[in-house]
Amino acid sequence: MNLYRAEGIVLRTHKLGEADRIITLLTREQGRIRAVAKGVRRTKSKFGSRLEPFGHVDVQLYLGRNLDVVTQVETLSPLGAGLATDYGRYTAGTAMLETAERLTAEEREPAVQQYLLLFGGLRVLASGEHDSGLVLDAYLLRSLAVSGYAPSFDACARCGLPGPHRAFSVQGGGSVCPQCRTPGSASPAPETLLLLSALLTGHWPLADASEVRHRREASGIVAAYLQWHLERGLRSLSLVERA
Ligand SMILES: [Zn+2]
Repeated sequence: MNLYRAEGIVLRTHKLGEADRIITLLTREQGRIRAVAKGVRRTKSKFGSRLEPFGHVDVQLYLGRNLDVVTQVETLSPLGAGLATDYGRYTAGTAMLETAERLTAEEREPAVQQYLLLFGGLRVLASGEHDSGLVLDAYLLRSLAVSGYAPSFDACARCGLPGPHRAFSVQGGGSVCPQCRTPGSASPAPETLLLLSALLTGHWPLADASEVRHRREASGIVAAYLQWHLERGLRSLSLVERA
């Protein structure tokens, strides 16, 4: 029997048959994996509750023919407890889990940085140290950056002309100079660009001191930027599958 262990965060679960679940995990060692947890929907299951979304677990698995099977689970840190009791944290955390799954397109492709970002982000979120919307936006920007889509909030994303610039283009990769600016570029407040830059680099004192209207504008930009890249990612994926 081929056994292995992995440290991971439960991203998602879905039902399988009468009593089993398929668990999607982002692991430190092997990137995103899916595995079967047998009998976890029975009330006497030993590890059902440990394999809920946000679970930070050490699992032992054995190699199955299709999906690997979970044989042991230990909880490493109780992330879920700090998230389940606060609606803002819970919804931000759920968006982080979904993004982590979308940004790790291939199963078993090592994604250590994505794992560390998700774990760190959920831990900060659960602690309640910072506004949950800011934690979410910081996570989204950094996970996009790790995936190779770092937006620019200062120099022109197209020609590199030092900034700051007034215009921001989602399709253009961030701040753009007057020459590179395309129709449809936004003109966010300078404070919003500073906030976005602080979130990307982890400058929390600046982010914590930001005003609500700039947070709102920053969130809109992050959401548009994420959407653009996820859709593009999906499109290129469907092309690969058709080829
Ligand atoms: Zn330019």
